[in-house]
Amino acid sequence: MSDPTPAEREVIEDLANAIRDLSEAYFSRAKTTVSDAEFDAMVDRLRRLDPQHPQLQQIGSDPAPGTMKIEHRFPLQSLDKATTGKEINHFLTATTRETARCISQPKFDGSSLSVEYRGGLLVQAATRGSGTRGEDVTANARRLGGLPRRLSEPVDLVVRGEVIMPLEIFKEKYSERSPNPRNLAAGAIRQQHGDGIAQPDDLVFHTFDASFFPENEQSEDSMTPLNLGHDSDLIPWLETLGFSPAPWEVHVATEEKTLLESIMQATMTWTEKRNDYEFEIDGLVIKVDAFEERKILGSTAHHPRWALAWKFPPEEAETVVMEVIWRTGRTGAITPVALVAPQFVGGVTVERVTLHNAGEIERLDLNVGDRVKLVRRGDVIPKVTEVLGAAVEGDLAGRFHADGTEFTAALPSRQRPKRPDSCPECGHSIITDGAFIRCPSLSCTARIARAVQYWCKALEIDGIGEKLIQQLVSVGYITNLSDMYRLTAEQLLLLDRMGETSTKKVLAEIEASRSMTLANFLHALGLPKIGPELAEAIATEVGSLQAMCELVRIRDIEPGGIEGGPAEDENGKPYKHPLAIRMLLSIEGVGQTVAVLLLEGLAKRLELVKDLDELLDISNQMKISTSEGVLSGRTVCITGTLSRPRSEIADIVKKAGGKVVGSVSKKLGLLIAGDNAGSKLAKATDFGIQVINEEMFRAMIKRESNEHASV
Ligand SMILES: [Zn+2]
Repeated sequence: MSDPTPAEREVIEDLANAIRDLSEAYFSRAKTTVSDAEFDAMVDRLRRLDPQHPQLQQIGSDPAPGTMKIEHRFPLQSLDKATTGKEINHFLTATTRETARCISQPKFDGSSLSVEYRGGLLVQAATRGSGTRGEDVTANARRLGGLPRRLSEPVDLVVRGEVIMPLEIFKEKYSERSPNPRNLAAGAIRQQHGDGIAQPDDLVFHTFDASFFPENEQSEDSMTPLNLGHDSDLIPWLETLGFSPAPWEVHVATEEKTLLESIMQATMTWTEKRNDYEFEIDGLVIKVDAFEERKILGSTAHHPRWALAWKFPPEEAETVVMEVIWRTGRTGAITPVALVAPQFVGGVTVERVTLHNAGEIERLDLNVGDRVKLVRRGDVIPKVTEVLGAAVEGDLAGRFHADGTEFTAALPSRQRPKRPDSCPECGHSIITDGAFIRCPSLSCTARIARAVQYWCKALEIDGIGEKLIQQLVSVGYITNLSDMYRLTAEQLLLLDRMGETSTKKVLAEIEASRSMTLANFLHALGLPKIGPELAEAIATEVGSLQAMCELVRIRDIEPGGIEGGPAEDENGKPYKHPLAIRMLLSIEGVGQTVAVLLLEGLAKRLELVKDLDELLDISNQMKISTSEGVLSGRTVCITGTLSRPRSEIADIVKKAGGKVVGSVSKKLGLLIAGDNAGSKLAKATDFGIQVINEEMFRAMIKRESNEHASV
């Protein structure tokens, strides 16, 4: 390249000076007159005109990540940890001296980052490191989602947060190369030359805290920070600045709930959300909300006294057997159930554990008053795996029921549970068969109650729980399933704990459950082996309850004759099964056993079925071939937080003829976006793909099924 002419030299120097002024402004003052893109273009031009210009050395001057240590202006303390309700209680009463107001946020499992802004511009980002010193990772931090390079206000502050990788991105791009998104996030943020496995562009930053400089450290022209008294005021303000705070909830005592109960509730809510959440979380951070209070509480040598990190407990835990009760099931089998001191395990508070059969008590050598080991994984029902010997009073301390109220029972005396000699529910004499015992009575109240319970669960009738059903059965208001639809307000008001409001609610729920599809009806009846999928397949094939009853009527009629249909197939081979069975066998998933059980089960309940048919509005089901569905031929992607597990939404999509895919491409037909939809939503919007939320999706599907029902 030839030397620049004097005229060119002038242009270059003007450009360099402008860049210098802007760079200074960038690091010290808020007032910049150009956008980031314009600034970058100026730098590019200078680089073209004079690649050796010294000014180029001074801009984009973020050190290579990891090469420089930074003293944190506001040290990052670690938090005290807790896993039990007892520890949270101690935090609320003792550590915080009975604080009245807390805030909680999910604890993201990522890599901590502290980011400094001057005059609203990102100037430096550092890893947590030792808490007092971290590594400069500014260059990588500038590429994170959720971490603005410029804020909406010219403010000086240091925010802290967690760098995390959305699980969708992890699954799509990295799950085969790294076992966990947290290590990937840490690696990506600290990499020096883009040589990490993951790139910072695939990470997002969620802030959970901000600190402000004392007045003498504030830069010129920076905005005086607002004087906010509470964290719960600060977080929404951070949001207006351009940050993405972790979701938060304020906790105060109310008439219904104590502060502790409110927080316990949050721990349970998040435990439930955990599996379907878009990021990995490992617990909940609980903090005193008022800043003034935080200042007074201060810190110990290790932790602030105003914050606590509650971690999800392990899936294995210990509890105490308080009592063993015997339950008669829908089929008459009588099983022992251990009532245990409430124990949070694998995401839920467990208070009762089935012991499967009477023989299990001997096998485990289990006594009331024993300490036992519980295991619960995923959705599997909890199980006692081991008896650990006699419990002591202290084993019962610090336990909370699922609703957050404290467990206060005393330790029972140690004794072996006794097998009942008659049905524990109806008193009928029982049949013993080795490890199993059963009540043979068909009018057993327990069996009726279980059938109603099953019905309510299958139809998602809320507010009609086990206790209410038991009362209704024991006072004789319900002697079979259909009686549920004859309940009156007068009857309900006579029951324990039923006021006007709950009565109205129960009746409304029952009323709302009167209309259902044939599939739901078949499933809710609780016939052996007929689950929701099979019920759906059968209902779609058979079409109406009337047709179903007709099959029941002709179930035993052999082939040949007027009602038995032809005796031989088109090849002259005699049919083995009656017409009704043959028809059911043509349905995928239905074998001879299921076909017989279905027809026999309905035959036994025919009177009930007819009664229910009078009381209910059971809609006919038409065969919808997939090509006729509202989503037929379309690919659908689902993202974000939805009101139901993603798999359920996916099922609905499939039923409507759609094909569910895991990622967004230009060819995608539709994106269903829940709350906090991240990169997929952005991508879909870029591609101009149709995006709908869950409500719109439901409306779309509903419209579709109404149209079909009216055909
Ligand atoms: Zn019984």
